Amino acid sequence: MSKTAHAPSASLRARAEIDLGALRANVRALRARAAGAAVMAVVKSDAYGHGALPCARAALEAGATWLGTATPEEALALRAAGLDARILCWLWVPGGPWRQAVEADIDVSLSGVWALREVTQAAREARRPARVQLKADTGLGRNGCQPADWAELVAGALRAEAQGLVRITGLWSHFACADEPGHPSIAAQLDRFREMLAYAEEQGVRPEVRHIANSPATLTLPATHFDLVRTGIAMYGISPSPEVGTPADFGLRPVMTLRAALALVKQVPGGHGISYGHHYVTPGATTLGLVPVGYADGIPRHASGTGPLLIDGKWRTVAGRVAMDQFVVDLGGDRPAVGSEVILFGPGDRGEPTAEDWAEACGTIAYEIVTRIGTRVPRVHVNGQEPG
Ligand SMILES: *Cc1c(COP(=O)(O)O)cnc(C)c1O
Repeated sequence: MSKTAHAPSASLRARAEIDLGALRANVRALRARAAGAAVMAVVKSDAYGHGALPCARAALEAGATWLGTATPEEALALRAAGLDARILCWLWVPGGPWRQAVEADIDVSLSGVWALREVTQAAREARRPARVQLKADTGLGRNGCQPADWAELVAGALRAEAQGLVRITGLWSHFACADEPGHPSIAAQLDRFREMLAYAEEQGVRPEVRHIANSPATLTLPATHFDLVRTGIAMYGISPSPEVGTPADFGLRPVMTLRAALALVKQVPGGHGISYGHHYVTPGATTLGLVPVGYADGIPRHASGTGPLLIDGKWRTVAGRVAMDQFVVDLGGDRPAVGSEVILFGPGDRGEPTAEDWAEACGTIAYEIVTRIGTRVPRVHVNGQEPG
């Protein structure tokens, strides 16, 4: 068991246990599903709250060959930690650390000519070509180059390549509705992607990788796999959406278990208001448990009155408001010992709720539940060593 550094008392209060063995098995399951394509482990936002470095290392051990981040700073931190895999980052603003990215051999995404200008300038300064991937907006309507502007971006990138300033390593795009199987935009985006690829290749672009699949597309749409799949949520063992299926349907196992220790157990009379605003009032004499995590730890305030927990083998529900640092549960007269384990969510196989259960209770998606867990909660990485 390898643990990340933290104060022991903090891990007694609450901790997020990260099962790197499960993560490696998930990567292998995704590789099998996308046979013929490379796997990019998307580790943006601290690996969706799971810890970027240990998760990136585990994913590479299991056969992922690319790492993906949103920001260049996230990519540079992976390189600085000594990871030598290919790394793509895609969310740039003017004045970003282009030169550091070029010098660190990071592949950078370009969605417009302003970005091409900045990266070619950085390549001149660094005296080496930048690895660039041109991103097409095939219908998401977020980042990426519109079809009407594609010819200009492709031509500019080819000129820069001819001058030795860039190497065009990839052509890529991103889906809007891959988590809604059968949504008509999926086929439309795929057609548009094929057209934009064909145009760039006719003009002379020779990409190493063409890619559009995120987790839901990797799991359900083999025609979208191309040369590489970019998997985030599935690698963490969470289904992209209930419509896509359960993690078990795809041989995936949730990686994060969020636990806390009961900070207080006490008897109260009936009619007692609970937590700020008294939105819960005890229906009769009962026992209460105090759970020492709150919205500062990433427990959604929307879980007030709805968030599920496992305590002493029983499902309980958040009673009243989630506060900044703590919330209360009604234990219905049971008296688990103070210090007893509270499982907020985990894989579910010991009867505990899952991140998907929390998402449903809070009206959000499981991506947000795991990603928002705060820095005050230590990540404890287990099964860190590949069995030898
Ligand atoms: C976050 C992200 C992914 C991964 O998405 P999942 O649904 O978590 O697999 C892939 N590509 C891009 C561009 C992203 O921003």
